[in-house]
Amino acid sequence: MSNAVKDQGLIFVVSAPSGTGKSTICRRLLAACPDLEFSVSHTSRPPRPGEADGRDYCFISRADFEERIALGEFVEWVENYGNLYGTSVKAIDAVLARGKDLLLDIEPRGARAIKERYPDAVFVFILPPSRDELLKRLEKRGHESAKVIQERFAQAERELREVLWYDYAVFNEDLEAAVLQTIAVYRAEKCKVSRLRGAIDLFF
Ligand code: 5GP
Repeated sequence: MSNAVKDQGLIFVVSAPSGTGKSTICRRLLAACPDLEFSVSHTSRPPRPGEADGRDYCFISRADFEERIALGEFVEWVENYGNLYGTSVKAIDAVLARGKDLLLDIEPRGARAIKERYPDAVFVFILPPSRDELLKRLEKRGHESAKVIQERFAQAERELREVLWYDYAVFNEDLEAAVLQTIAVYRAEKCKVSRLRGAIDLFF
């Protein structure tokens, strides 16, 4: 059928408090799913060792960030630990227009804003096996002061409660199992009839 509608790309949002292994799971998910592309956020925080501009984040100054907020360039943005983070509307729309899927690694306040604007997006929350284990993992990361670790733990506890409005929860007790579960969620969502209307019309 020549007038078949092309199926829109999927927005896949993954949130988790720091120390839950979210970055590793996201990396593995991207490696396993060629149609899924990482949404590179903008941030005013400085790069950490090993992070690359344009790959992990677009690193910009606070002044530049504030200017972009005023211009309405972000679909959502938040201030976190004194730094600004945001998702650009253009970046999302460019990927979806190419029919690709988009992985957003963002915290729950931003995820809520995405849900309002893109109600068909899928929301996955990664949980640590327990709260004690989370504290241990935060302490083990090693590159942060005790004060920062305490702040992150307090924020993590608040964030964990947000799991209740997400679509899926993945407990990261065993990394391999958590990776497989996250991939399974993505693949199952791709098979939903509601997401395949264009392909199904074409079939008939
Ligand atoms: P980090 O500084 O450790 O890279 O990220 C801190 C937190 O900010 C993480 O929870 C990460 O998911 C979140 N984050 C990264 N980019 C964005 C964004 O564009 N929007 C929102 N709302 N959160 C983000």
